Amino acid sequence: MADTLLSIREVITHADSRTFRGHPFTVGPDVGALHLDFHVEPRAVGPYEQSIKVALFDPNGSRGLPGRGMLPARLTPREATPGLLPGPLTPGTWTAEVCLDHVLDGPPCTYQLDVWAETEAGAARAAEDHPSPLVSPALPLGVSSAGPRWYAGDLHMHTVHSDGRWTTAQLLAAVRRRGLDFFALTDHNTQSALRELAAADLAGLLALPGVEVTTNAGHLLAIGVERPIDWRLGAGRGGTIDAIVRDVHDAGGLAIIAHPGSLGSPVCHGCAWELTDVAPAQIDAVEAWNGPWRGEDADENERSLLFWREWLGRCYRTPASGGSDAHGPGADFEAGVPTLQVYAPELSRAAILEAIRAGRTVVTSGPTLRLSAVRDGDAYTVGDTLAAAGPVTLEAEVSALGEPARLRLLCNGAVIAEQQLDGEGGCAHTSEQPVPGWYAAEVRSADTARLLALTSPLYVAAP
Ligand SMILES: [Zn+2]
Ligand SMILES: [Zn+2]
Repeated sequence: MADTLLSIREVITHADSRTFRGHPFTVGPDVGALHLDFHVEPRAVGPYEQSIKVALFDPNGSRGLPGRGMLPARLTPREATPGLLPGPLTPGTWTAEVCLDHVLDGPPCTYQLDVWAETEAGAARAAEDHPSPLVSPALPLGVSSAGPRWYAGDLHMHTVHSDGRWTTAQLLAAVRRRGLDFFALTDHNTQSALRELAAADLAGLLALPGVEVTTNAGHLLAIGVERPIDWRLGAGRGGTIDAIVRDVHDAGGLAIIAHPGSLGSPVCHGCAWELTDVAPAQIDAVEAWNGPWRGEDADENERSLLFWREWLGRCYRTPASGGSDAHGPGADFEAGVPTLQVYAPELSRAAILEAIRAGRTVVTSGPTLRLSAVRDGDAYTVGDTLAAAGPVTLEAEVSALGEPARLRLLCNGAVIAEQQLDGEGGCAHTSEQPVPGWYAAEVRSADTARLLALTSPLYVAAP
């Protein structure tokens, strides 16, 4: 038997953008399943889509939000529509939170929100018809293999649990095809895909739990976290970016700014990083490269690269990160493009997270790029800091180039050595008295200047 718990119709306008409307409803002790439906009209104005979503909160916190096109959604203790987190239907006050991230400027907009419940008997029958494919997460996910080396991964991927087009299984297949060692699940504001991953055969792959904390003023990748992170900024919810970053760290994760140079509204609501009050010292890495470096995406990536290097210029030692932001098969994105390479002592969650935090990273679309510094016979690598005193030789090596390219060594953003390459090669720069600051290498296509690989810096300390 179905009981209506909530049926709301509201009119909203552009002025309501970046606010939330919480609609409370009561879940009784005999409820075995909840259903949620939500419609927005009009869905688009001209070429642009509204950015309006509904999330579910139980008396204890977030239960996720339905994936794109997944309405009406259903939630039971054992199973849930992708995007929602199955678990106890705790009696008490729940909230359907309408997130008005961006209401387009245009005709008035209306949303219709409905929540209804099945009683225990009805829910039990439905569960028999659709036995749960899910198991409890068995974490940590995947391998722990010995051996220090460079490991290849992708820190930014979506599934049908948010706005992706592929299932967890299809994502896994794509990661395998690319030959990656690790990857992170980063659906928007939900970790519901994690349960499927825990049940999958990872066979040598390291899966990092994670979430793309998707606020209405910027996206933050939380890598290595298994529990929900509240993404609601301001507007009566009290959230600040500092509190979000603290929460990510408390949950054992890395906080990485995603695609800071993206276009914002109305093209991509909330995608540009507008949270300029964030404390850079609290950020573990910046995604300086998101998805294929071409067309308009290349312009956005150049802005992200500048954003990151501007922080380096202000003496923040923030590592570079990169990820495909792949949402499924297709021409737009490809798993592992770009790839994040991480030098770690082993392939485990703790080792990979620590190596990223330490700045032992290279982002590449294919070429192998290595940067080192040599002083008195000792070798240093990205993430290391050298004292200012004494001569030092900086060396960059490239291989696996698929096209003629230009290798550059940079000191505080300025080119200090440059070499035209075809296939493989390197360049070096020796300084008797190195300038304090950051040193990095990058490889760009000789024809188009498109970025092919970049390193995190190594540093020379001020005397
Ligand atoms: Zn994003
Ligand atoms: Zn994303």
